Order: sequence, then C-alpha cells, then structure tokens
Amino acid sequence: MSAESGATGDIWVVTQQRDGQTRAASYALIGQARKLADACQARVAAVCLHDGVKDADQLAAFGADRVYMVGGPVPDGWNDDAYVKELSDLARRDRPGAILATSGALGSSVIPRVAMALGTSVAANCVSVDLDPQSQTLVHTRPAFGGSLMANVVFAGRRPQMATVRPHAYRKGQPDAARQAEMVRVDFDKAAVTSRSQLLSVVQDLAGRVRLDEAEVIVCGGRGLGKAENFQIVAELAEVLGAALGTSRPPVDDGWVPYSQQVGQTGKTVSPRLYIACGVAGAPQHLAGMQTSEIIVAINEDPKAPIFEVATYGLVGDLFKIVPLLTSKLREARG
Ligand SMILES: Cc1cc2nc3c(=O)[nH]c(=O)nc-3n(C[C@H](O)[C@H](O)[C@H](O)COP(=O)(O)OP(=O)(O)OC[C@H]3O[C@@H](n4cnc5c(N)ncnc54)[C@H](O)[C@@H]3O)c2cc1C
Repeated sequence: MSAESGATGDIWVVTQQRDGQTRAASYALIGQARKLADACQARVAAVCLHDGVKDADQLAAFGADRVYMVGGPVPDGWNDDAYVKELSDLARRDRPGAILATSGALGSSVIPRVAMALGTSVAANCVSVDLDPQSQTLVHTRPAFGGSLMANVVFAGRRPQMATVRPHAYRKGQPDAARQAEMVRVDFDKAAVTSRSQLLSVVQDLAGRVRLDEAEVIVCGGRGLGKAENFQIVAELAEVLGAALGTSRPPVDDGWVPYSQQVGQTGKTVSPRLYIACGVAGAPQHLAGMQTSEIIVAINEDPKAPIFEVATYGLVGDLFKIVPLLTSKLREARG
C-alpha cells in the first residue's frame, strides 16, 4: 500500500475481546488484513486496547506481524475516552496506512472519534475491504442510500484509511502456529484520561438463547411462517440443533421477532457452518447477510425461489410439514 503523508503501509486491526478472549470476528478481520498486506508487501498489526488479553499469542498465528498491547487496566471495564486517546496517540506515533475494526461497540463509538482526532474519515459498516491493484489503496464496499445500492469508498489522499467492517463479513481462517509476531507493550495510564461517560451496567441481549453473530448453526424463519406464533416451529428446530434463531426483515417489521435477530443488509451479517432458511424467498438484501455460510439448506414451497440459487441443499415443499418432521427425526437421532 502506498505510503502517503509520511504514513507507513502497515494495516492495523483493532481487536475486540470478551472475558479476555479475542472475538472470532477480529480473528477473521486479521486474516483479511493479512491477504491485503501480502498483496502489497505490507505488515499487519493487531492492536489490543487493554492488557487483559489472554490469547495474544494467537493473534500472530492468525496473521499479525506485530501485536500492540496497550497496558493498564480499563477503568469501569470499558472507557471510550481512554481508548480514543490511546489509539490516536499510538497512530500518531507509528503512522499506520490503514486502521480496521469490526462494526459494533468499538467500531461505532471509538473508531469515528479516532478518525476525527487524526484528521481522516471512516468507511463505516463495510461488507468487504479489498485492494485496488493499480493504486494500491483500499477499496471499502458498504451499503449506501438506505441499503439500496453498494458504494465503493476510497481514500484518495488521507491516511490512515479507516474502516469498520461487519462482523462475519469474513470467515475465521486456520491458525499457523509457526507464525511469530513482535510484541510491543505500550504504557498508557487510562485512569489519567478524564471521561465524560460512565459504564453503569452491561445488559445481555436475551432475545435468543444462542447469539446470532457467534452461532455455528442458524435456523432462519421468513415471512413464509405466516404469523408470530408459527415461529415456535423453527424455534424447536433451533433448540434441537443448539442453533440461533434468525429471521428475514418482514417478520421484524410485523413485530413477530425482535430486530436483533434480523439477518441481511440492514440486519446482521452471519457466516455459520450451517444456515437453514425456512420460508425465506432469498431477496438480495437477505442474501447479503448470509451467503458466505458454509452449508445452506433452503426449505421453500416455490421451486423458483431465489434462495435455491445459493442453497447447498434445497427442499421444495411445505415448511409446516418438513420442519416438524426434521425436528422429530433429529430428536430421535439424538436420543
Ligand atoms: C433497503 C432495504 C433493506 C433491506 N434489508 C433487509 C434485510 O436486512 N434482511 C432481509 O431479510 N430483508 C431485507 N429487505 C427486504 C427484502 O427485500 C425482502 O423483502 C425480504 O427479505 C423478504 O423476506 P422473506 O423472504 O421472509 O419474505 P417473502 O419475500 O414474502 O418470501 C416468503 C417465502 O416463503 C415461501 N413460503 C410461503 N409459505 C410457505 C410454506 N408453507 N412452506 C414453504 N415455503 C413457504 C414463499 O414461497 C416465499 O418464497 C430489505 C429491503 C430493502 C429495500
């Protein structure tokens, strides 16, 4: 990546942890950063904004050449103001060419403020980040005009190029245990940063038993279910599979299922090992959120439904017959 304004070509990925473990989406983004860096002879750095990270060695295995560990405990467990100050100070010192983070709490509250502090801008909520081979700059693809079209955003001159990327836009790759990274410890006194905000409590989203964005298996119900009560049919299949329950947009619009379960362009991007779509037509806006799933099973009574174009296995028929049968057969098989 061309170094402009004195910036290096380094690509930084700001990682996010829960209980000290780096989230799968951060690992997946490091993997993509590795591919971009290999294409332009650049280096990848993983940035950990606090020192409670238990799996820092794994960041190298997934593609980082350098791991920044910014020292000091986090007051209140989360502190936007401290994160903004430490990340912008570090970026001013080491001048990365690009800074990427997953969308979500960090991507929404910290990354835009860092961009403002550095005098650059952010392509938010991207579905992909690629490299333009000619200009060697990053091409950030994101929904625009309410999701009715996709825009490619490039930063002509400003550095660092900054973007937040949807979790699961990329799949977590395979670790390479032989890879080594330089560990850079950075002292930073978070408690010295005056904060205008205070974390009062953390509220878990209890809408689904298994979190949609972390699920290995997702059962998705669409408008074909007809009414809210019928979601019980797909919920039972999800339960027997230990799966998360997803939905398309119409059931959310009709108030059958909470928005937190919506998959698609204006919902969540998911990439499970198995995605079972029941009564979902397969509109482009829905496919945008799930088509990187490893195995897609579609159950739809309309053989021409577009979902069959991306499905690994298609079952043409009435979901009210197929889904309960599948659930009972799986229950039998699992004892
Ligand atoms: C800007 C914008 C953003 C959007 N964002 C999203 C988004 O994030 N996510 C999203 O999902 N959509 C989104 N949409 C809406 C999208 O365009 C579709 O309208 C939506 O995905 C359709 O949902 P559906 O497939 O559940 O419903 P439908 O299109 O009504 O399809 C229902 C399907 O169920 C099948 N069916 C009916 N009865 C049965 C039965 N008994 N057995 C088996 N099959 C049956 C039908 O054959 C049909 O294929 C967006 C639209 C716009 C304009």
